[in-house]
Amino acid sequence: MARWLHGLGVSGGEAVGPVARLASPPALPPSTEVDVDAAGEAARAIDALTAVADDLQQRASTVTGAASDVLIAQSMIAGDPVLMDGVTALIEAGQDAPHAVDAAIGEHRRALEAAGGYLAERAADLNDIRDRAVAHLLGLPMPGIPDPGHPFVLVAVDLAPADTATLDPAKVLAIVTERGGPTGHTAILAKQLGIPAVTACGDAAGLSDGQSVLIDGANGEVVADPSDEMIADARRRADAQAERRARSHGPGRTADGVSIPLLVNVGGPGDLAATSQADSEGVGLLRTEFLFLDRPTAPSFDEQVEAYRAVFDAFAGRRVVVRTLDVGADKPVAYLPQDEEPNPALGVRGLRLAQANPELLDDQLRAIAQAASRAQADVWVMAPMVATAQEARTFAEAARALGLARVGVMIEVPSAALKAQQILDVVDFASIGTNDLAQYTFAADRLAGDLAELLDPWQPALLALIAQSAGAGTAGVRPVGVCGEAASDPVLALVLVGLGITSLSMAPACLADVRAALAERTLEECRALADAALNASSAVTARAVVSELARQQSAAPEVAESQPV
Ligand code: PEP
Ligand code: MG
Repeated sequence: MARWLHGLGVSGGEAVGPVARLASPPALPPSTEVDVDAAGEAARAIDALTAVADDLQQRASTVTGAASDVLIAQSMIAGDPVLMDGVTALIEAGQDAPHAVDAAIGEHRRALEAAGGYLAERAADLNDIRDRAVAHLLGLPMPGIPDPGHPFVLVAVDLAPADTATLDPAKVLAIVTERGGPTGHTAILAKQLGIPAVTACGDAAGLSDGQSVLIDGANGEVVADPSDEMIADARRRADAQAERRARSHGPGRTADGVSIPLLVNVGGPGDLAATSQADSEGVGLLRTEFLFLDRPTAPSFDEQVEAYRAVFDAFAGRRVVVRTLDVGADKPVAYLPQDEEPNPALGVRGLRLAQANPELLDDQLRAIAQAASRAQADVWVMAPMVATAQEARTFAEAARALGLARVGVMIEVPSAALKAQQILDVVDFASIGTNDLAQYTFAADRLAGDLAELLDPWQPALLALIAQSAGAGTAGVRPVGVCGEAASDPVLALVLVGLGITSLSMAPACLADVRAALAERTLEECRALADAALNASSAVTARAVVSELARQQSAAPEVAESQPV
């Protein structure tokens, strides 16, 4: 009999297939005392970590985009001399190589988990390195993706980047994990690969190999042992969706011709080849952290100019919205030491970091301005984590003084949404980061799978703040876009447009579905959907009411088209 499991839908689409579970990590044998050849045992451990680092580096070269970036970062952790020194010290204290690797990595993992936020999310990377190195030392097969010989739904407690990055969408029909937050690796990479995914689905622990499951990656639903009728319905919907997707191309527009530019989020140079070829109107969010993280010193001015120029060239003739550095606290950089903070997500991060390190922002803005001066792209620049109109004004003055013509801010702190009008009086545009805006509105860590319900972008309180921000833009005729994950849900995208949002930025794999959905609705219909969502009493109700109303709108196109716009 069919049984429903609920999680967090992080990558849209429906799929049906048999479960294949990720193999369990290699178990450690009883420990042995090493008092004879500690040096030899340490060499063995270092060989194993080096082999893991090399293997990850090699895998990185076979993929592109975010997948390549995360594998390179993971390879650097496995080959980190500090980790190797820690392992050697434990071996010298009497442990054998597998136990020393396990203990040293465990220590790092606990430190990351204690830090919370972005760093806690990196704990899954360390587990994977541990499993690979221990398997290498014990002569066991490498843990990783199963290969049952037919397409399957991958079920796991959690997925490491190395697992997710090399997934073959032809074989993996969908992903279900017991843990994982809405913005973890699984979510980002599944979206990039276009694989439906549900995370934070604790009951997935009860799914077994070969069991039939139906996944709805938009709604976060997993049906165990679905009936034949349910499977046939899902297949019909998937076929219809594939057809709509194939017909969808060109600029984003509502059915009555209102232009809603559809843009892509770019996270690093590895993304450029794929993202620039996507059918988009440009970049809605260039996350510049890729230039600054995981390195001992800050990038030079020239290095920055070159990196920005590569993006502007790849998107010549289109818009590129560059976000200035969003690091600090939970995304630390070695060359900007910060005091330990009890609540890193509420600490000195994003634009706040520039107050203590003004040269960092100044250098970055100068590099962007220089790269933009001879670029064919339409370059816009915006600051992250802006909380007040005064901060927006200071940033805008600094950017404009360098010749940057389009200056804006991200709205991702509730105070900025509440005072959007004042902010839009001093900048040219705003872009709403729904990931952080949800986190700060609901006081819920955005990476905490347990708080998925609060972080659901359909929450009416979040939509109310988006409406307030968009309304401020409409009043002053300033564009207000969305570049958080909310923009990639095709039904929610209609609601956002109805709330007054003027552009949507997302992973390239999501463009076609959002474009197709927009093309089927007039602005007035989007407004009706937005009203319904705003007035709902919960995220679940908002999604259900809007889905039902959208179905009714589709069923009565003549009536809908005769509405005044
Ligand atoms: C957001 O917060 O929604 C956003 C787009 O920024 P980031 O995910 O990089 O914090
Ligand atoms: Mg953010």
